[in-house]
Amino acid sequence: MKVLITGGAGFIGSHLAEACLNQSNEVYIIDDLSTGSIRNIEHLKSQKHFHYVIDSILNRPLTAELIDAADLIFHLAAAVGVRLIIESPVRTIETNIKGTELVLDLASKKKKRVVITSTSEVYGKSSNEMFSENDDLILGPTHKARWSYAASKLVDEFLALAYYREKQVPVIIVRLFNTVGPRQTGRYGMVIPRFVGQAITEEPITVYGDGQQTRTFLHVKDAVSAMTEIVKNQEAWGEIFNIGVDNDISVLSLAEMVKENLNSNSEIVFIPYEQAYEEGFEDMRRRKPDISKIQKHISFYPQFSLQDVIADVAEDQRGAGF
Ligand code: UDP
Repeated sequence: MKVLITGGAGFIGSHLAEACLNQSNEVYIIDDLSTGSIRNIEHLKSQKHFHYVIDSILNRPLTAELIDAADLIFHLAAAVGVRLIIESPVRTIETNIKGTELVLDLASKKKKRVVITSTSEVYGKSSNEMFSENDDLILGPTHKARWSYAASKLVDEFLALAYYREKQVPVIIVRLFNTVGPRQTGRYGMVIPRFVGQAITEEPITVYGDGQQTRTFLHVKDAVSAMTEIVKNQEAWGEIFNIGVDNDISVLSLAEMVKENLNSNSEIVFIPYEQAYEEGFEDMRRRKPDISKIQKHISFYPQFSLQDVIADVAEDQRGAGF
């Protein structure tokens, strides 16, 4: 099968490319290297069934050709990361909405199958214990830049479902919860690569706020195996799925765990949100997925623990990775 991955040189995209190659697919990626990196795909370049194009998906004729040749499209190209979103809101909104619209429009010509990657950010400020796909979504006001990411991804979801209903484009929407592992960069604010990097270099580990906010962390290899499995289930088309794990940890406990697992002498410091992000920044106190829906469709039991994640990220950062 021919698989196209937009954003294929990104953190998740490059792992997905690897998984698709391992399942004997012909893999095509397109990436503009805005947040992705050629280093992420260096080890794949020599593979016969791997093809890459460095360009923007907004290059319509090129993307049209790639989609035309593909049997399945994983659309991952997007602006990601809370810090990037606050720093470049125009880019976030435009890339996320225009890119998805273009991919869906081109896919609709020959009704190509498309997986749209969304995010747990869409659940916004919900105070529910666990987030389920049919929950109401509660976002903050538009003058707070953070919410532009969730809103842009929600437009993507509406568009995808509209193309599914009106134009019979087979789509699956996956809402990825915090996904972590080798090749993720801390440059855009992600907590695990930052904490691991700080622990390795024995710099202070920077816990934002009071550190009592909780998250779940899924190893990227578990996330991509859920993505490659879900497309094999006919009942999944037209549906939305959470992808994540359901055991959570506070950010402070995570800092302690990273420090201990890596035998680091780093001090743990608390940084107020307004210093870390912007004045009036709103963080989610907790975020945990209900994964019962995806488990009804595929056998999805994450294989990697948080300890595995920390060890893999540390190995990658020490340069012994891929
Ligand atoms: N965080 C932190 N220190 C850092 C980076 C992030 O305490 O150096 C916190 C952040 O405020 C959030 C959590 O870690 O509560 C997860 O942040 P990340 O950006 O990885 O993902 P998010 O859940 O915000 O999408």
